[in-house]
Amino acid sequence: MMRYLKGISTLKIDPEGCTGCGFCLDVCPHEVIALKGKKAEVRDLDACMECGACAGNCPAGAIAVQAGVGCANAIINGMITGGPPDCGCGEGGKSSCCS
Ligand code: SF4
Ligand code: SF4
Repeated sequence: MMRYLKGISTLKIDPEGCTGCGFCLDVCPHEVIALKGKKAEVRDLDACMECGACAGNCPAGAIAVQAGVGCANAIINGMITGGPPDCGCGEGGKSSCCS
């Protein structure tokens, strides 16, 4: 399973708003979310690449996540280089995806 930086994903699920429909589980490419007692909960936060698919498909508006290209870019860079995820926004980087 592809990992992102530890504890950094902005993913938040509001259990009060969740109706347990399961759409977010269906669209998540990394099995980040699980249903427990008919409520969605984050199963594996560090696997979340902040793609936004879950929030975009939640009919109850119960999911918030800051979706952007920076995180996906970082993961792809990490896979290519074999190193940690890095989008180039750090020291000396010129990218603005993490601003
Ligand atoms: S899509 Fe929204 S309402 Fe449906 S299970 Fe996921 S969080 Fe709950
Ligand atoms: S933002 Fe994407 S990777 Fe993260 S939980 Fe939602 S669908 Fe899964």
